[in-house]
Order: sequence, then C-alpha cells, then structure tokens
Amino acid sequence: MGYFMIDRLIGIGVLAVTIIVFTLFIICIIRYQNIKRVQILLYEENLKLKEQYQELENNYNSSLSSLNELTGKCEELNKNKESMKKLAYTDYLTELPNRTAFTEMLDNIMITLRNEETIAIMDIDIDNFKNINDSLGHSYGDELLIDVTYRLKQAMDENDYLARIGGDEFIVLTQNLQDTVSFEDKIKKIKNVFSYPFVLSTKEYFVTVSIGVAFAPKDGRTSQALTKNVDSAMYVAKANGKNTHVYFEYSFNQKLTEKIETQSELRKALERNEFVLFYQAQMNLDTKQVVGFEALIRWNHPTKGLVYPDEFIYLAEETGLIVPIGKWVLQTACHQLKQWSESFPDITMAVNLSARQFKDRDIVKLVYDIIEETGINPNSLELEITETIALDDIEYTIATIQELKKIGVSFSLDDFGTGYSSMNYLKRLPVSNLKIDRSFLNTVMEDQCDQKIIQAIINLARNLDLYVIAEGVESSDQEVFLKESNCNKAQGFLYSKPVPKDKAVLFLKNQDVKVIE
Ligand code: C2E
Ligand code: CA
Ligand code: CA
Repeated sequence: MGYFMIDRLIGIGVLAVTIIVFTLFIICIIRYQNIKRVQILLYEENLKLKEQYQELENNYNSSLSSLNELTGKCEELNKNKESMKKLAYTDYLTELPNRTAFTEMLDNIMITLRNEETIAIMDIDIDNFKNINDSLGHSYGDELLIDVTYRLKQAMDENDYLARIGGDEFIVLTQNLQDTVSFEDKIKKIKNVFSYPFVLSTKEYFVTVSIGVAFAPKDGRTSQALTKNVDSAMYVAKANGKNTHVYFEYSFNQKLTEKIETQSELRKALERNEFVLFYQAQMNLDTKQVVGFEALIRWNHPTKGLVYPDEFIYLAEETGLIVPIGKWVLQTACHQLKQWSESFPDITMAVNLSARQFKDRDIVKLVYDIIEETGINPNSLELEITETIALDDIEYTIATIQELKKIGVSFSLDDFGTGYSSMNYLKRLPVSNLKIDRSFLNTVMEDQCDQKIIQAIINLARNLDLYVIAEGVESSDQEVFLKESNCNKAQGFLYSKPVPKDKAVLFLKNQDVKVIE
C-alpha cells in the first residue's frame, strides 16, 4: 500500500514535471516564434525606414538644388530690378538722369534744406529745336542732343547735377551755393558752350538756349513750387526773344496764368465767331488807285474788346491753333475777294501766312481747296511770308511756292530787310513781291542811310523782276520819296488804316486817296 502510494506519487510527480516541462517547452516555442515575428517585423520596419530615409535624402538633395536654383534666380531678379531701376531713372539717349531721377533728387534735397542753405535750378531749353528735327530729321536731332550733353558736362562742377527732363530741356541743379550773384558766372559758363557751332550732317549750326533760373528757398519751398517757377522763368526767356536767361520773379506766374487763360479763350474764339478781318488798302503809286488789300485779323474779345494780332498770333502759333485760324482767315479773305472782284475784277488780296501754317504739309492742298470753294481768280491772291520763314527751309519754300505759282497764286516776302536775307537766296526764291519793312519808313525822311537802303532794295527788286511795296507809309513826304525811288506800291496810314469790310468797300468805290478809319 505504501509502495503503491509512493509509486502513485512518483507517477503524479513525473507527470506534473512532464506537464511543466512540456508547458515550458510550449511557452518557449511560442516565445521564440513571437521573437522571430518581432524580428521579422523589425527587419521589415528597418527596410521601410531605410527606404524612407533614402527618399528623404533624395528630397533633401533636390530641395537643395532647387534652393540653389532659386538663389540664382533671385540674384538675377535683383540684378534685373537694379537695371530696371537704372532704366527708369536714366535718359536712354544721353544717359543722363531723367525727370524722375531729378524729381526724386530735388524732393530729398528740399525736405532737408536748411534756411541758411541755397540751391539753384537752371532750366535750359534749346531754341527752335523742332526746326532741326523737322529739317534734318530725328537722327540729327538726337546727335545734337548728345553733343549738347557732352558740352554741358564740361561746364559742370562738383556741386552740379545735370539731368535731361524733356525733349530739348535740361536741368542743372546746383547745391552749396555761396551767393546768388556769383551764379551769373555759372550761367556764362553754360552759355559759352553754345558760342561755337555744332556740326550736323557736315554743316555747321549755331544753337542758342533759353534759360530760366530759380533759387531755393527764395523762389519756392517745395520741389513742385520750385520746378513750376523755374519753368515760368524759362518761358519768359523764350517770350523775351530766346537766347537769353531770366531769373524767376513772382509776377511771372500772374502773367503765365493770363497767358494760359488767353490760350483757352483762343480755343473757343473760332467756334464763337469772335475773329474778324480788317482790310488795309494797297495803292499803286503811279496811278494813286487802290489795287488791293491786305487782310489783317482782329479778335473781337467778349470783355477786352478788339484785340490786335501781335497779342495773340504768337500764342496761336505756339499751340498750333494758328492752323485752323489761318484756314478761317484764308477762307474769309477769299470769300471777300470773290465778292469785291465782281465789281472790281483787278483787285488783289494779300493774306499773311504764319510759320507753322506755311510749314504745314497740307498748305498747298488747303489753298487749292479754298480757291475752288470760293471761286476766286488765283491770280488775285497773294500770300505773305516773312523772309525768316522763307529761308528756314529754302528747298521746301521753293517747292511750295512753285506748286502754288503753277495755278497763279503769288508770294510776297514780308518785313523785308529785317532778317538777314542773302542775295543768293533771294535769287532762288520764286516770290513776286518784296514788302519793305515799315521800320525803314519810320525814319526815312531824317535818315539818309535808310533812304539808301530803301533805294538799294528797290533797285535789287527791279533787277530780280520783283514788285516792291512799301508798308507803313504815313506821310506825303514818304510817298514822294518812294515814288521818286521807283517803288511800285504803298500801304500805310496815309491812305487807310486796316478797316472792316464795309468801310473798305466804300474806299474802293470812291477811289480817292484819303485817310479813312
Ligand atoms: P504785318 O503783316 O507786317 O502787317 C502790317 C502791320 O502794320 C499791321 O498791323 C498794320 O496795321 C500795320 N500798319 C500798316 N500801315 C501802318 C502805318 O502806316 N503805320 C503803322 N504804325 N502801322 C501800320 P497789325 O494788323 O496789328 O498786324 C500785325 C502783324 O500781325 C502783321 O504784321 C502780321 O504779321 C500779323 N498778322 C495780322 N493778321 C494776320 C493773319 O491773318 N495771319 C497771320 N499769320 N498773321 C497776321
Ligand atoms: Ca503782312
Ligand atoms: Ca509787314
């Protein structure tokens, strides 16, 4: 029994141990398998990570190259930006600072300008630059601007800033000015660079400039005020006959405002029918008969009354309004001529052409059209141009006059003797009449010299087969002198002032020589 129990116990023990060992074995196997699985997972994860790492590295590398590329582009962009800025601030032709650069520079200076400091601005505008451009072409105009820049640079000192602010307009800004009086030397220096001719297209041209001068803070405390005022001074220099310099005065702005007002009134005057033509008789000195009229414009201004052409023709010329106004003059004068010619078929009509009008490439067509429209005899129409206009572009003048001469229209050289007519040119111009300027007549009775000039002009004209008309004849003495000198025609207050058409026609009908108004 005892052994049986011991055997059973041993059996149970062995069984338990076996079970335990087996269980442990099973656990071990499971663990091993788990470890193996984890190991596989880890291995797989590792592989994935490696892949991801590789991808990251690739991404990093491509980002780096993109970054490099971007940095390059950025640098390029900055360079472009700089060159764009340079372009925006530089005048392409002369490579001088342009208006934007100058304005920015002046703005900065004006902000920090102290009361005891003085700066000067000089506005330099080339006179008649348009003529060079029109007659020689733009490339020569550009060449002139480059030459002018080169010369101006020679006249600059360390305190000067030179800019080109418009077509033919330059600015010199001078800082640290000691006193305004000594600035005159600077102006002289600038003017000096224009004292010798410019060579363009193998010919020599003298160029003059109009200069406006303003000082800050005296003539303006802001850059806008200063620029406006220097501009006014330059305009006054132009109005004073060009080739001169003018210091700004506050009264200029008033005048300039008036000028702008007149210009805008002038624009409306044509629509409002405010212009009228007056007619001044022209006499044959032999027969003492009226042989023609000169049409002279007047402006019936709503508040100022009758305004004379000297006060507005130059403004009309400046704005280009002279072209439509001149057309109106020609039409009105031709209509009048047609009317009068029905009773007085030999009567002539002289009409003034301004520079711009004559240079207008449509002038020949315009005259042709008006002749057709009004039905006048072209032989009765005389067009007057001054010798300055005629000689400005002699080839054009000759061609235009010839074109109109073909149909019978003749030309007179007005204000003769005041310009610098060369006899050579005169020979080539196909004009029919010379009008001796009235300045010679003013003093002719006292001045032997003027008498000789008039006689010389008459002889010259006769040799060239031209008719001579003297204008500004006010006294019988003058008339006698002219008649004795073989002058053909005369015009002046001695016979008649310019008068409205109704009075002119009375004069025409009476045909007796007397002063009428
Ligand atoms: P202009 O062509 O030399 O005209 C002659 C000017 O001399 C006229 O002045 C006339 O009134 C003036 N005059 C004539 N005889 C005498 C005289 O005996 N003594 C004095 N002291 N003066 C005399 P007006 O009408 O004031 O014209 C001035 C200028 O205006 C003209 O000078 C001409 O250049 C311009 N003008 C006049 N009408 C026209 C026009 O229709 N078109 C253009 N483009 N210019 C015109
Ligand atoms: Ca005239
Ligand atoms: Ca004249």
